[in-house]
Amino acid sequence: MIFNQVVLAPADPILGLTDAFKADPRADKVNLGVGIYKDESGQTPILKSVKLAEQKLLETETSKSYLGIDGVIAYNQAVQGLLFGTDHAVMSEKRAVTAQAPGGTGSLRMAAEFVVRNTASRTVWVSNLTWANHNNIFQSAGLTVKQYGYYDAASHDIDFDAMLTSLEQANSGDLLLLHGCCHNPTGIDLNICQWEVIAQLCVDKGLIPLFDFAYQGFGAGVEEDAQGLRLVASKVPELLVANSFSKNFGLYNERIGAVTLVAEDEETAKRAFSQIKSTIRSSYSNPPAHGALIVATILGDAELRKLWEEELTQMRERIAEMRVLFVKTLSEQGVEQDFSFISAQNGMFSFSGLNKDQVARLKEEFGVYIVGSGRISVAGMTRANMDTICRAIAQVL
Ligand code: PMP
Repeated sequence: MIFNQVVLAPADPILGLTDAFKADPRADKVNLGVGIYKDESGQTPILKSVKLAEQKLLETETSKSYLGIDGVIAYNQAVQGLLFGTDHAVMSEKRAVTAQAPGGTGSLRMAAEFVVRNTASRTVWVSNLTWANHNNIFQSAGLTVKQYGYYDAASHDIDFDAMLTSLEQANSGDLLLLHGCCHNPTGIDLNICQWEVIAQLCVDKGLIPLFDFAYQGFGAGVEEDAQGLRLVASKVPELLVANSFSKNFGLYNERIGAVTLVAEDEETAKRAFSQIKSTIRSSYSNPPAHGALIVATILGDAELRKLWEEELTQMRERIAEMRVLFVKTLSEQGVEQDFSFISAQNGMFSFSGLNKDQVARLKEEFGVYIVGSGRISVAGMTRANMDTICRAIAQVL
């Protein structure tokens, strides 16, 4: 027997919270843990643009035969368009290659596996703080994870000097994980001058940027949110991107993302792509089609694309409204501490600064579930649950 040697795995800090939430019998409980968009009625609806694309697919799809290892070709091209825009040099110079992969997570894992299998690089630098799963994914692929300074709790802003100081320790060939936009969990992104500095640092030190791009369109807009990536891509010879459409197309359970590699020239990109495909082949052979076909259908049809952009704008604007209402309601509940920094954060999350004890009390006494780091999913707030949330926070402060 071998299975009796297996030790119990700890619950995932984010998904484990959802399990605890489901088991909670309280009627007024609120889940602000996992990053899932909810509309004003607390639902996570299928976007209209997605439904229309699915209808189209139902009528036109003729086969469920296997896709190629790299997935739907039209999808991969559309991904490059979203990432780099239509006239970026990496595309005209054919230096970018893209393979469909299962969600942002699968894309990050394939990127990391590819690096470990094919290069001498073994270190990835991630921000302090970062999405909890980054450590798991990179360590599982065989990378050593090191941290660079990022968030300054006192100013609720980036400690850019600390970031640069930590990265002095980085060596040529190390991966540098960068959140393309809507930094998870802090909601604080690099500004364009800081992107410039980071791009130059990567060039000077030979660091390989690895963009995690899971929230394109949730910050300032589809094009605006890609500015950092496009700038870095115009300066460095090599980079990787793992992007996800879980959030911006609401395709969470379709597991749809992509890994994109930019190399110094077309020939190197092609060679690297053969190895990305080989990594995929030994992991899951080839990806599922549905999510990729939905995204390709929407992005390839002017009307559907327009509708999708409108729906994305609605999601982005609702979250921004909730940020403002959150700050206002906290103040109405008598909270004197200044939470105005929350309005300046980007994306689905707000980094509240609440400590572990306060987070535990929110859950146990008030049925308000947030991640232990103090990260609150603003996307789960509605006008209906705002008073409950803010009253509970006021009590634990
Ligand atoms: N990166 C970040 C920063 C994320 O927040 C998430 C999702 N929470 C992902 C990657 C993974 O996305 P997916 O669900 O598509 O695997």
